[in-house]
Amino acid sequence: MLRRGLLRGRVRAVAPALRPPWALAEADFLARCSRCDACVAACPTGIVVTGEGGFPTVDFSRGECTFCGDCVPPCTPRALSRPAADAPPWSLTARIGDGCLALKGVECRVCGEACGEGAIRFRPRIGGVALAELDASRCTGCGACHAPCPVRAISLDMNTKLAMEEGA
Ligand code: SF4
Ligand code: SF4
Ligand code: SF4
Repeated sequence: MLRRGLLRGRVRAVAPALRPPWALAEADFLARCSRCDACVAACPTGIVVTGEGGFPTVDFSRGECTFCGDCVPPCTPRALSRPAADAPPWSLTARIGDGCLALKGVECRVCGEACGEGAIRFRPRIGGVALAELDASRCTGCGACHAPCPVRAISLDMNTKLAMEEGA
């Protein structure tokens, strides 16, 4: 049991759960969320699922966030809180990992075609296939690029710079 708990703790430290958009900071979120699953039921793209401990988490393998905001009003304990219409939903940014096919010499532009923000561009190379490059300033963290990638090379990570700016 102890070993399993330690392993769980290690996993959590490496990959913190992705909460729904406009979630409070993790400690406040966990304190407020009643695990009622109202946000799970409200999400039209089905990306909010019941995660570890019964708390909601975002699963981009199921689709993308359209930032419709439908998950926020049903959250009566206000663990999800959108103080203004233009409040940033989160500080997630896509990251193209080492598994990318283009890095292995295989032509692939699937993620660029999936990205409605034009945040993924392809840099032509002499003697090789074009490489995917992320423009973090355009990326909204919507996750639309994650599921279509044939090798799931794209992760959605906290943009620590943005998170720090928001916390300042
Ligand atoms: S903003 Fe809309 S699409 Fe995004 S998680 Fe909430 S309900 Fe789902
Ligand atoms: S879809 Fe995946 S494999 Fe294809 S270019 Fe994008 S990150 Fe690489
Ligand atoms: S997370 Fe959304 S905006 Fe960012 S690169 Fe992927 S599809 Fe584009």
